Amino acid sequence: MRIPIPCEDYKRYQENPKDFIPEHPTCLNNPRHKPYWNHRWERGFLPDHVHEVKLEIVQAYCKECHETISYWPEFVLPYQREALETHESVLIEHLQGISFREIGSKIGYDPRTISRWINLTLEQGVQLWGEVIGRILRVIGHESLPVVSRIDWRITQLLLAWLRRYAEWSCFPRLHRLIGLCNLFGEGSWDLWGAPLGNAKSRANAKSTLG
Ligand SMILES: [Zn+2]
Repeated sequence: MRIPIPCEDYKRYQENPKDFIPEHPTCLNNPRHKPYWNHRWERGFLPDHVHEVKLEIVQAYCKECHETISYWPEFVLPYQREALETHESVLIEHLQGISFREIGSKIGYDPRTISRWINLTLEQGVQLWGEVIGRILRVIGHESLPVVSRIDWRITQLLLAWLRRYAEWSCFPRLHRLIGLCNLFGEGSWDLWGAPLGNAKSRANAKSTLG
């Protein structure tokens, strides 16, 4: 399982990950379990599309569940080296009608890579919109779900709009990181958006969340 941790500035995390990581790990399956820190590793991260920095990621193990628990700073997506902001801005440009080629040329990526990122995101938007928006509505006190289109980009657009509303409601200041806010809000229930949900071993995968 993967637990996202709030972290506004990658440099501060890079310099001192301990400032952001809890003293004791938690097992999301059962808070009475006693997981222990068992591994730390470095992953490449591209804050500006060009320069790679190394980030330490820490991992715990729960003996009762036979499961590893990774702690991921908010600005990192599973299996992706590019910053979350990059994935989010690419998605928003796509929703605004800008072509894969044009988006790719701005940040030095093959349009096929851009299309892979976006397709993954749209697919996950469809898989999880009910779960995510349902929870937002419960928290901010609305009663009914908005009417949803079956078109993946429309659903994703709606998801981003609700995340923005939740960001404003909760005073989350990083509006270019709504995907990160979504993962924080999920508290480990889902792993948007870096990898297919199956690979990311999302807990949302365990029970059907389609509605
Ligand atoms: Zn456990």
